[in-house]
Amino acid sequence: MMKIYCACGRIVDLDIREMKIKLSLNKDIECTACRNARISRDIDCLNGFFNEGEITEGDSVSDIPA
Ligand SMILES: [Zn+2]
Repeated sequence: MMKIYCACGRIVDLDIREMKIKLSLNKDIECTACRNARISRDIDCLNGFFNEGEITEGDSVSDIPA
């Protein structure tokens, strides 16, 4: 088991194999709380995207930066 500090200061327990997989995939090592927070942020972001898409439907295409 490896003990690694997450960006939030919590200690993350990882075994070496798991850590190597994460590093080889270029993934950040984060604790469960941060992962959950990130996932719910992603979901909020997606929901926001779809909701906004509905509101501005029809005239939003030209507003999207290239
Ligand atoms: Zn964290």
